[in-house]
Amino acid sequence: MDSTRRVLLVEDERQTRDVVEAYLERDGLWVTAIGDGLKAFEAFGASRYDLVVLDLNLPGMSGEEVCRRVRDHSDVPIIMLTAKGTEEERIAGLDLGADDYLVKPFSPRELAARVRALLRRARAESEPQRSRVSFGTLEMDLAGHRVWLDGEELVLTASEYKLLATLSRFPGRVYSRMELVEKVLGYDFEGYERAIDSHVKNLRAKLDDDPREPRFIHTVFGVGYRFDAPTDGEE
Ligand code: CA
Repeated sequence: MDSTRRVLLVEDERQTRDVVEAYLERDGLWVTAIGDGLKAFEAFGASRYDLVVLDLNLPGMSGEEVCRRVRDHSDVPIIMLTAKGTEEERIAGLDLGADDYLVKPFSPRELAARVRALLRRARAESEPQRSRVSFGTLEMDLAGHRVWLDGEELVLTASEYKLLATLSRFPGRVYSRMELVEKVLGYDFEGYERAIDSHVKNLRAKLDDDPREPRFIHTVFGVGYRFDAPTDGEE
């Protein structure tokens, strides 16, 4: 089986495209680089890709539209490249189904790291989930819904447990408050986004996690939250 990972890179700025392509190829990825939204969407339909890097502002078809159409029939990881970084635009990208985004100008090295992380995650997603996971001093038994920190079992509410399980399933992935409301509380009223903040606050207190110097749960300004496993060495 061909295990080379294939990336569809959609970017109309030649220089950015060439630099990103070079970085991804250096990581051993097979890159198809296209500068037009419509052509990119056609290419996506014609071949198998493991990940899409998608500029928003494109000739042919906008990046938003490409993202929407790709999402209609695929859960391929998508990283969006946005020209401006307003809160609305970042959230709009994630709401369209993008997995991650970078604001221009970005470092190609950072993009390559995010691509690696997303590909790792996609691979992990396709494998059966282990019941027992640990992140540094934090241990979780996913079957038994139990959590230990430094060997001491924590008493979490159902919402706090769900929040932690959701965030930690894919370390590094950013979740908007709205997504967390849906996944953790199971409903989608905007007013409940604040409820997520208070669950996070309580969970942080139990995890002894200082928001100013988080070990586990990081605030992503203007968007939501991200779990980072405290590892040594990896990225
Ligand atoms: Ca562009």
